[in-house]
Amino acid sequence: MANNFLTGREYLRRKKLREKKKLISVALGFPDLIFAAEAIPVFPIRLESFKANRYLTALNSATTVLGWSLTSKFLDFARQFDVLKLVDKILEEVITSINQKYNQMYDLGTENGIPSDLCYGIYAIYGMHKERKQIDANLNFAMRCGEWNKISESLKSIVPNQIWVDIPPLKSENEKGRLSSMISNVNKAIYELEELTGNVISDNSLNKQFRIGNQVKRFYDTILYEISSSDFYPCNPATFAEILALLTITFQDYNSNAQRFLENMSHLVKEMRERTKKGIGTDVSDMPKLLFSPMYGGWEPEIHEIIYKLGGRILYADWEILGLLEEIPVSKDSDPIENYAKFLLDASTKGIGCDNENLANSYLNAAKKMEIDGLIFNQVYGCPAMSNIYESLKKRVETELNLPSIVIKFKKIGENIEQIENRLKPFVEDLRRIK
Ligand code: SF4
Repeated sequence: MANNFLTGREYLRRKKLREKKKLISVALGFPDLIFAAEAIPVFPIRLESFKANRYLTALNSATTVLGWSLTSKFLDFARQFDVLKLVDKILEEVITSINQKYNQMYDLGTENGIPSDLCYGIYAIYGMHKERKQIDANLNFAMRCGEWNKISESLKSIVPNQIWVDIPPLKSENEKGRLSSMISNVNKAIYELEELTGNVISDNSLNKQFRIGNQVKRFYDTILYEISSSDFYPCNPATFAEILALLTITFQDYNSNAQRFLENMSHLVKEMRERTKKGIGTDVSDMPKLLFSPMYGGWEPEIHEIIYKLGGRILYADWEILGLLEEIPVSKDSDPIENYAKFLLDASTKGIGCDNENLANSYLNAAKKMEIDGLIFNQVYGCPAMSNIYESLKKRVETELNLPSIVIKFKKIGENIEQIENRLKPFVEDLRRIK
């Protein structure tokens, strides 16, 4: 999965030039319509060139020759002797290299005359699109927040072909009217995608994609609820957090290949289960489990290392909290467009539409299900939409779940690390005393 992310540029170039596929930029977790149109969804940072990771390149060659199962056995064997800390090393390097690139994209965004005081994620998305002439269109789901929609408008100057799916705001109409507006907005996007690609989006192609997406989401849930709830992790907790971070990033476009992404998820879950069954990994029973969120709009990746060194563990679960891991029903008798419209409305109601009360409910439900010991809220500079729920969320987490929470501030990767560490130290120490 990490290799597919880092080598995305080559893969995408091949798809565009040799196979004449359209590249359509997308963010969050909405690649389905693009796959159904036989185009290629791309979270545009993957068009950048990343430094090749020597371990990954070697590992990739090994899996080609030996198959994943044998390679994995070899890694287990090597790890017993502590000769190679491959997985830890690879993930650390991959996440570092992705984050360096994120900062470059952020700088590019801030240097280009778009309004100041926006969140990190918005600047980074803008920077990712800048000078990326390979992108044929941008698919945008207009529901996230006013700032996001404003910047999406200014993306028009870089990617003129904009396909917008408007999400009717909550309480704008009665439920039936809202659904019917949503269906017609999805139909409009489908029409525009068909025009762009020359391909027909049929019920079959939609259902096929939803089936793949549903399986991906089930594996994702297994990692979040089954594996992360365990007292024994298949790796150390910082590496586990890095896997969750990688999932958060790659879920946005399925690394441009839905079937391959599904297979990777399946391997990942299998590998995690096998390792824990064999007792390979880390006993985390005395380490407080902390949910860290939101991180999709920008976060300090050093945080999971800091928490690990302080004796805790971090979980990243934004897509679950924001309602994007809900499955889309697939059956012969139902209408896939209506099912997709319902999925979008539910996600917008549950989390990603940023309605304060519903968002707080989502946090509380995820916190309960994941049996966390505390919450770290990431207050992103320039985010009026999510950041202002913290005070009420803190009260509800304390009174309804009897759990502590803390807020940290984020502006750019690498800034304030020492300050963050000093702030988190007493918080984790207290939790360790209770545990
Ligand atoms: S982090 Fe806040 S400001 Fe940025 S896109 Fe998300 S909701 Fe909007």
